[in-house]
Amino acid sequence: MRPLLYWVMAGGLALSSCQAPSDVSHRHAPHDDESVTGPATRCERRPVELTERALRIHRSAILVDGHNDLPWRIRDKSESSFEDFDLAQHQEGMHTDIPRLRKGGVGAQFWAAWVPPESMREGGGARIALEQIDLIRRMAERYPETFELACSADDVVRIRRKGRIASLIGVEGGHAIENSLGVLRMFYDLGARYMTLTHTETTDWADSATDEARHQGLTPFGEEVVGEMNRLGMLVDVSHASYDVMRDVLRVSRAPVIASHSSAYAIAAHPRNIPDDVLRLIARNGGVVMVNFFSGFVEPEAAGMIDSVFETMEGLREKYPQEDEYRKAVRDWRRENPIPRGTVHTIVDHIDHIVKVAGIDHVGLGSDYDGCSVLPEQLEDVSGYPYITQELLNRGYSARNIHKILGGNLLRVLRGAEQVARDRKDLDRATQLP
Ligand SMILES: [Zn+2]
Repeated sequence: MRPLLYWVMAGGLALSSCQAPSDVSHRHAPHDDESVTGPATRCERRPVELTERALRIHRSAILVDGHNDLPWRIRDKSESSFEDFDLAQHQEGMHTDIPRLRKGGVGAQFWAAWVPPESMREGGGARIALEQIDLIRRMAERYPETFELACSADDVVRIRRKGRIASLIGVEGGHAIENSLGVLRMFYDLGARYMTLTHTETTDWADSATDEARHQGLTPFGEEVVGEMNRLGMLVDVSHASYDVMRDVLRVSRAPVIASHSSAYAIAAHPRNIPDDVLRLIARNGGVVMVNFFSGFVEPEAAGMIDSVFETMEGLREKYPQEDEYRKAVRDWRRENPIPRGTVHTIVDHIDHIVKVAGIDHVGLGSDYDGCSVLPEQLEDVSGYPYITQELLNRGYSARNIHKILGGNLLRVLRGAEQVARDRKDLDRATQLP
């Protein structure tokens, strides 16, 4: 199912949650009635104002973001070359560049090595993953003052202490291993520290949240993949997977798991978000859910609209088999169907909910910057993270708990997975003795 991806990846028109231009007001004026009874409706929520105290807390944290799609943007924009593309300059039309990463106080970033699901039919998935891993590594080499490749939690702390941004690699889409544990092991050796089990399509061994369930969870080979990731010390990432896959992973994984870029289903009903029962299982597993910022997943009304987008896009695809005509039709459709954006308050609503259901130790941030088009107000790009810190402070979170959310929880989970790998390697060696 490519269409949603196109919607998500391509730039788009969006409404703020308080905007209701006359041409769409008949569809988007749902908040008026809420203001009569509701406590703080979205429209009553004021922009967050930064204070010195929040900035101090923010700067002393290690902010770890779980998912940024910049590597694919670079592949698209400059054919993976840094010759005519300078990340040290402001990049118009993108969410990420070095000046804004600095302004946002990012301490560590998982860069996505995304592999299009079409590769399952066309072949070459492992090659694309290798090229994206190569791009992330070259990016760190190109800007040694800013980035350094990190392969462990200790690396992240050490690199952050030097004032650099720790660059971690996350493979997005389990189809990238082309059903080979050998390929998985080589990804690990090249620095990959998480892999999402699926992207938008069901693979041979795991169902996707946004595709037909063919296996009702993980297949026996899928369980082997999880076991091998545990043995290696690669985080199992359940973002994009179906709920049955999430439950199977939480049954078989010996290490804490992550959802690198997923939000709370109870707040916004979209299958890419995580339901409360799974949030509780992730808490029991010791894992972390890193909240996605994409308006289409976090704004309740937008989530409903996005959910039906699949069918609309499939319809347009059938009607316009030519790619450029199809893209134009999608653009037109989006212009006529803008989604509400939400604000930084919306993101903190998701954090609050996960804290309530799973606990303070099981929530983090996984923005999806440069992988989505529509973002909440004050979180338009990677410079916006301090507003989250401010709003958490405004809602009464302590500095210690804010640090957990910003990155401490993810570092604990990564250390946990590293420990399981050490234990299992000893065990495997022991069983190989004559
Ligand atoms: Zn994704």
